[in-house]
Amino acid sequence: MKKIAILGSTGSIGTQTLEIVREQKDIEVLGISAGSNVKLLEQQIREFKPRLACIWTEADAKDLRVRLKDLNVRILSGMEGLIELAVMEEVEILVTAIVGMIGIRPTIAAIEHGKTIALANKETLVTAGHIIMPLAKKNNVPIYPVDSEHSAIFQSLNGENPKEIEKLLLTASGGPFRGKTMEELQHVGVKDALKHPNWSMGRKITIDSATLVNKGLEVIEAKWLFDIEPERIEVVVQPQSIIHSMVQYVDGGIMAQLGTPDMKLPIQYALYYPERRALGGKRVNFFELGQMTFEKPDTKNFRGLDLAYRAITQGGSMPTVFNAANEKAVALFLDGKIRFLQIAELIETAMDAHKIIDAPDVTQILETEEATYDVISTQFLK
Ligand code: NAD
Ligand code: MG
Repeated sequence: MKKIAILGSTGSIGTQTLEIVREQKDIEVLGISAGSNVKLLEQQIREFKPRLACIWTEADAKDLRVRLKDLNVRILSGMEGLIELAVMEEVEILVTAIVGMIGIRPTIAAIEHGKTIALANKETLVTAGHIIMPLAKKNNVPIYPVDSEHSAIFQSLNGENPKEIEKLLLTASGGPFRGKTMEELQHVGVKDALKHPNWSMGRKITIDSATLVNKGLEVIEAKWLFDIEPERIEVVVQPQSIIHSMVQYVDGGIMAQLGTPDMKLPIQYALYYPERRALGGKRVNFFELGQMTFEKPDTKNFRGLDLAYRAITQGGSMPTVFNAANEKAVALFLDGKIRFLQIAELIETAMDAHKIIDAPDVTQILETEEATYDVISTQFLK
């Protein structure tokens, strides 16, 4: 039996990870955690019988302890709980399916305890990649990407020499607003932004896909995962989302991974690497598909991507500002407090206001996050 724990078991990636557990029958789930969905967490605990579960507030944890008094499960709360879950003794793989920078500390703790990381939580690598990657190397801990593009690149690197990479071609769907003019983008609302054409995902990443910020975060994520300069990472819009990303080698050869858009493939691949397990679901039918098309990303109307390149080029604490400003702006947008185009504006304002700290440690990263939230709140109240 493979032994895993999941940060964020009630979300889009978390629940799909549990579907794989259900189907494969040879994975034991020792720990799970959620932000606030007490009901679903209770159901998951009853079904998967973990030894430890964690929910963010102590009030919710108390509630869960009462609901689950017939079971032998420890219920913890807060950051301490997440860290305890991340380092559970028998756990081999930690699936980081939590959203946001809250994943930094538990991911670091897991690496220090030698756990393999199946990484979905891209915000952690974007802001703390300079800490996490060397730490993983030092502790001889593999980090397997769950993000579909990075999994595709990882698969396209099988048996190849990474020194022979010319560039990475990161594919993007273009999101629900691809092709819209600036004028049209003035009027788009939350509901429109939540309608992703190809992928069903959590709310935050779905908005990030509409702004192209997600692709920006993924460029930074790819830089850290594959140790490659951002200039050698090119974004290619492929609206059908069949090619999940590609690697171009020095001889001009290109390796790609294709498939229907289904996150279960990259999740399962990360859990079983290097083995491929059977997975049901639709297959690509090239005759039905007919054609695949390619475009340059529209960086004029969707400024998230260029802001990400700027953040990673400036480096230090700037990617944290990019990410934190986006997290805050997306939350305001989802609350109906700002318009779609203001997301990129607020990110830029926060980046302009920031004085870069070189190689920030975790405390400095989290302080930068707080300071960025403050900048956005002040800006927003103006
Ligand atoms: P989601 O919003 O559906 O789920 C987030 C999970 O994190 C939930 O289980 C939630 O309860 C948990 N969580 C939030 N705050 C918490 C807290 N304070 N304490 C404990 N748990 C907390 O998000 P998602 O779409 O599953 O995305 C998760 C991560 O995976 C993100 O970093 C995202 O960028 C990345 N990712 C997601 C997809 C996808 O298809 N959904 C694809 C690629 C990458
Ligand atoms: Mg992705």
